[in-house]
Amino acid sequence: MNPDFTYKPDHESEEISAALYQRSEVLYQIPNTSPNAEGLIECPGIILNEIVVFPRLVSPIFISPGINFSAIKEAHDKSQTVITLIPKNLKTKKEGKGSYLPVAVEAAIGQLINISEGNSSALIQGRRRVEIIDVSFEGPYLRVLAKPVIEPAYADRITKALMRTTRSLFESCIQHDRSLPDEANVFSLNINEPGWLADMVATAISPSLENRKELISILNPKERLTFLNTLLAQELDVLLLEENIQTKVQKEVDKSQREFYLREQIKAIQVELGEGDIWEQEIHNYRKKIKEINLPKEISFVALKEVEKLSNGSSLSPEVGIIRNYLDCILELPWNRFTKDNLLVNHASRILKKNHFGLQKAKERILEYIAVKSLKPEKSKQPILCFIGPPGTGKTSLGKSIAEALGRKFVRISLGGVRDEAEIRGHRRTYIGALPGRVIQTMKRAEIMNPLFMLDEVDKIGTDFRGDPSAALLEVLDPEQNYAFSDHYLEVPFDLSKVMFITTANSTENIPAALLDRMEVIEFPGYIEEEKLEIARRFLIPKQKIENGLSDEDFELESSAIIKIIRDYTFEAGVRNLEREIGRLCRKISRKKSEHKIIPKLITISNMSTILGPSQYFTFEAEREDEVGVGTAVAWTENGGEIMPVEILIFDGKGNMQITGQVGEIMQESAQAALSYLKSRAKDFQIENDVFEKMDIHIHIPEGAIPKDGPSAGVTIATALVSAFTKRKVHKEIGMTGEITLRGKVLQVGGIREKVLAAHRAGLKKVILPKNNMKDLIDIPRKAIKELTIIPVEHIDEILKVALYSK
Ligand code: ADP
Repeated sequence: MNPDFTYKPDHESEEISAALYQRSEVLYQIPNTSPNAEGLIECPGIILNEIVVFPRLVSPIFISPGINFSAIKEAHDKSQTVITLIPKNLKTKKEGKGSYLPVAVEAAIGQLINISEGNSSALIQGRRRVEIIDVSFEGPYLRVLAKPVIEPAYADRITKALMRTTRSLFESCIQHDRSLPDEANVFSLNINEPGWLADMVATAISPSLENRKELISILNPKERLTFLNTLLAQELDVLLLEENIQTKVQKEVDKSQREFYLREQIKAIQVELGEGDIWEQEIHNYRKKIKEINLPKEISFVALKEVEKLSNGSSLSPEVGIIRNYLDCILELPWNRFTKDNLLVNHASRILKKNHFGLQKAKERILEYIAVKSLKPEKSKQPILCFIGPPGTGKTSLGKSIAEALGRKFVRISLGGVRDEAEIRGHRRTYIGALPGRVIQTMKRAEIMNPLFMLDEVDKIGTDFRGDPSAALLEVLDPEQNYAFSDHYLEVPFDLSKVMFITTANSTENIPAALLDRMEVIEFPGYIEEEKLEIARRFLIPKQKIENGLSDEDFELESSAIIKIIRDYTFEAGVRNLEREIGRLCRKISRKKSEHKIIPKLITISNMSTILGPSQYFTFEAEREDEVGVGTAVAWTENGGEIMPVEILIFDGKGNMQITGQVGEIMQESAQAALSYLKSRAKDFQIENDVFEKMDIHIHIPEGAIPKDGPSAGVTIATALVSAFTKRKVHKEIGMTGEITLRGKVLQVGGIREKVLAAHRAGLKKVILPKNNMKDLIDIPRKAIKELTIIPVEHIDEILKVALYSK
């Protein structure tokens, strides 16, 4: 027995524990009642309805006047212990042992403290379990005859295991139950008696009255521990659950408290700033704006619904940002704003003339469009023009001029490299950082519903796993669909039918067929030298002078100097590099001017080279000598046309042929075809038959880094082959193009305009073309045609006759 034990497991304060500790000595002055000869003890009995006193543990009890009071008084008078009886139920007879649990506890009671009106309190300390033999009513109190229970103080193996479980469960309970002090754990570790451990722990965890009664009734310590362990496990389970719930509740409380706190702070700041409730204000502003800008009904409905969502949510919820962005996007779009078209044909014609040299076909088509629109304003179908041509041929700038003529705003996007449908059509709002597609973003920028919208590089859009952007583009351009274009982000239809779309591309080849089908192609041919000179004089030089802070009087550029720039400093079908070089020249002169250096008034060929430095351009020029095994092909490239020498060398070998210079499959096949034709006609060309087995052929098409393909070099390869085998020289001033068949027929090819212009640019005198291509000459500037001799052919023999020396 631990005389110092004053541990009290109730929820009361530590002060009571301290008080109990002080009283413990007083309590021990009362000895246990000694048994008689039969081993029985006889003591006054008290009935405890609501508490169960365990052996060795101290509890406070309250005593009202009655039999309990008399019994305690009697015990006090005789310095005797009492027996605490536990009634089976509340309404039992006081006498007879049948009314009580068979097991009770002998206890010592400390000094009575008078509380009020005869009610007293006292501390009671359990001593040991007793089995009740008899309960009798003697005068003012009950007398109990009982037999003390002697509990084994040692523990066998099973009991030890049970005790260990009890201790560990108890420790866990202490960890999770803040009302249990840590000392209780230490105390339990020092108890070696199994029964005592069970009683101590049972008192500590305060089981229900029923369970306490059960625990007190179990005499066998092993069974008591087993029952207690079940209770401990249940208790622990409840504690863990409780803890879990508490953590969750705490988190919720913390979060909402934090939000509340922050919101209150915002409010306080707003009040300090005299702004009232900004959140309310914002929602109000959205509603007001939606009404003000007179949105289409359907859109306004959607927008108001979003505002509703905003006002129902908290200003701090993450969804707010998404809704706000969406509303801002809707409100920034130019739903009902239009500019009025200027449909005066004369005015448009003046502007196009003022800004552009040449480009007759394109200009005429635009004027026709304006004329039709002025006569039939509403119902005229919006054509989708597609400007096709090499870079720098004025596609973009003509687009701008058309916008200027019509009085429309000009906007432009480049589709080069667009592979993802979402770039055109946007991402759904569920994506983080979602945005509308480029079309809608550009319309936002346009600020009106009817801009001139230029889509550059339609031939450069790609397709991959992220969807087909050209399908989305179709919807943008198709007048049947574009009055209700659907952007994934916007979700509501957007009317693009009033937009004038113009697309641009370098060639029609890579434009998806479905798209090309809906567009009206206008070709922008490359310029010949004279046109470039004219463009430079009339447009590029004045423009660059202004851009670089120079005036007309500062200097003049001689025509011969401009032509030198065109020939030696640029190599292109358009005038972009020409403009760049003129800009460079102007900058250098500006610098001289600002440094107060002397500027030559007239820039001639000679002083121009000192200003611009040496020419950086290397171009293929026409061959300087007539040679064997070399032909000049004229080729089409994205930058216009160029001349392409074909060199053939034959040498001793085993009849192999190799072709080099980044040549594609089709070109290799046309080389094979040319060779086969040559072999089949060897006799006519006076070539010995076995030569082909004894010689190797190497065909080389220089400028190896640039990939080349297509069948149109076929005739040039055939000509150079015949030249190489017959040793007949090729006339250097002849350029040619055409596909060759095995029977020597010459078939029509594409890109004639660029090819003829390239031949002209390179200074060739004659161009051999397939007869069927003669119709394409119509678009070529007359001057170029005049200065060239065009030779139409149907068969390779005709070419050989013209191009090769007779021997
Ligand atoms: P593209 O869009 O075909 O690549 P740009 O329209 O950008 O070509 O033209 C490049 C430059 O050349 C612009 O400064 C443009 O004004 C000028 N330019 C091209 N063609 C003409 C022309 N026919 N008349 C006047 N300037 C031209």
